[in-house]
Amino acid sequence: MSSKIQQSVERLIRSEIQAMKAYGVPDADGLIKLDANENPFPWPPDIVQSWLEALRTVQINRYPEANPIRLKERLCETMGIPEGMDVLFGNGSDELIQIIFLALARPGSSVLAPRPTFSMYEIIAKSVGMKFFDVSLTESFALDVPAFCEAIETYQPAVTFLAYPNTPTGNLFADEAIEAVLQRSEGLVVVDEAYFIFTDGTFLPRLKQFDNLLILRSFSKLGLAGLRLGFLVGNRAWLAEFDKVRLPYNINSLTQVSTQFALANKEVFDQQVSYIRAERERLYQALDDMPGIRVWPSEANFIMFQVQETDAQRVYDALYGARVLVKNLDGASGVPPNCLRVTIGTADENMSFLQALRQGM
Ligand SMILES: *Cc1c(COP(=O)(O)O)cnc(C)c1O
Repeated sequence: MSSKIQQSVERLIRSEIQAMKAYGVPDADGLIKLDANENPFPWPPDIVQSWLEALRTVQINRYPEANPIRLKERLCETMGIPEGMDVLFGNGSDELIQIIFLALARPGSSVLAPRPTFSMYEIIAKSVGMKFFDVSLTESFALDVPAFCEAIETYQPAVTFLAYPNTPTGNLFADEAIEAVLQRSEGLVVVDEAYFIFTDGTFLPRLKQFDNLLILRSFSKLGLAGLRLGFLVGNRAWLAEFDKVRLPYNINSLTQVSTQFALANKEVFDQQVSYIRAERERLYQALDDMPGIRVWPSEANFIMFQVQETDAQRVYDALYGARVLVKNLDGASGVPPNCLRVTIGTADENMSFLQALRQGM
C-alpha cells in the first residue's frame, strides 16, 4: 500500500523538493533552550496585564487590517526608517524571503549567498523553482569579494542575500565588501538584518544610495518570535510589486495589536537587549578561557564555537543530557568541523551551559 503512495509521491512531487530536507526543529520541552536565537525573557507581569487589556479590543470575527498603516507609522518612527522608503510586513521575515523569490522566479533565475549562511535562503529558493548558488566565505568568515563578484558575473543572480550579522558565524561583513557587491550586482541585494538589535551596524541609511538595496528585519530575535513579524524596507518601486505576491491579511490581528503594544513599550526590550549584549561578552570570555575551545566574536545574540579535542556530537549529547539544548553545526555546509552554536540566555542559563560544557568536554 505505502509503496503505491510512494510511487505517486515520486511521480508528482518535484524532484528538487524530494531531495530537500525540511527545516528541523527539535522538541525542547523542559530544556534550557539555547538553540534558536530567541530572547530568553518573557514580559514582566505588569506589562503582560496591560498587553492582555490591549488584546481585548481585537475583533476576532473580522479580518485583520489589510494594510496596517498606523503600525507602519509607529514602526518607521521607532526604527528610524529613512524618509521616502516604504515598508512591507511579512509573517516572519521568512515569508518576505519567499515573497521576494516568488516575484523574481522565472525559468533559470537564481539566488546568490555566501556559505555558510542562513539555511532558509536555499530552501525557499529551491521551493519556488529558483537556482541557488553560494560562495565560500574566507577563513575569517569575511566576504571573498573577488570570488563573490566573479559569481555575480557568471550567474547574474536576480537577488543576492547577505545576512548582517551573518549566521551561524555571528560577524558583520565589511562595509566596503557589501558596497562592492551592491555596485557589481545588476540584481537586487537584500541585507538581512534579523539581528539588527544586537549590533550597531546597519545598512538602513544606505538605502538612498543604492537603488538595488533592500533591508530585511525581524521582530523574532529581539523578543517576539511567537508573533511572527518581519518587515522589508526599500524603494516603493520594488515593494509595490512584492505586495502583489503577498497573500491578503498575512499579518493576523493579534500580531498587529501586540506589535503596536510592544513598540509603545520599547524600553522593556531595550533593557533586555543591553543585558543580552553584556552577557554575550561574558559568555565569549568564558568560552575563550576554556582549553580545547575555539570561539569567534559575535555581533548577534549567539556565539559559534569549535571543540578541538572531542567531537561536536558528543558535546551536544552531553549538553542535552544536562538539559541544555544548543545547535550542533557539525556537517553544516561551509562550517568548520565540530562547531556548535549557543544562544545567549539569562545569566543562570549561560552558567548552566558553561558548567555542562566543562563536564561534557
Ligand atoms: C531567524 C532569521 C530569519 C527569520 O526570521 P523570522 O522573522 O522569524 O522568520 C531570517 N534571517 C536570518 C538571518 C535569521 O537568522
